[in-house]
Amino acid sequence: MIKKIDHLGIAVRSIEEARKFYEEVLGLVCEKEEVVASQKVRTAFFTAGDIHIELLEPTSDDSPIAGFLEKKGEGFHHIAYLTDDIDGQLGIARERGCRLINETPVEGAGGKQVAFLHPKSTFGVLTEFCKKGSL
Ligand code: ZN
Repeated sequence: MIKKIDHLGIAVRSIEEARKFYEEVLGLVCEKEEVVASQKVRTAFFTAGDIHIELLEPTSDDSPIAGFLEKKGEGFHHIAYLTDDIDGQLGIARERGCRLINETPVEGAGGKQVAFLHPKSTFGVLTEFCKKGSL
């Protein structure tokens, strides 16, 4: 079962540049910055109410985020739903014919379990399931 939206992912070329907008214009606080080596991204998490904003910056040219920036430019990247049961959610999605990017959960920011559904089968929105809150 989906509990809530945990965070929204935004692809940026430079967290250092982008965080000024989130901090100085929106007045949000950066709670955490982290490199996720397995995904080749640097992430920064901000909090707005009980939802987080995850900025994603590629750490190499073959990062999936580098590919995204090349194709679409900076902007909205993914929505993440909090659930107790990623495998269960993946099972439902698979049964209904959704294309899965991850057949089983993988390690995301903070060593937490995440899995993604392909935007081709989610009406254009890259969709993440995460098991624990992103902070
Ligand atoms: Zn995410």
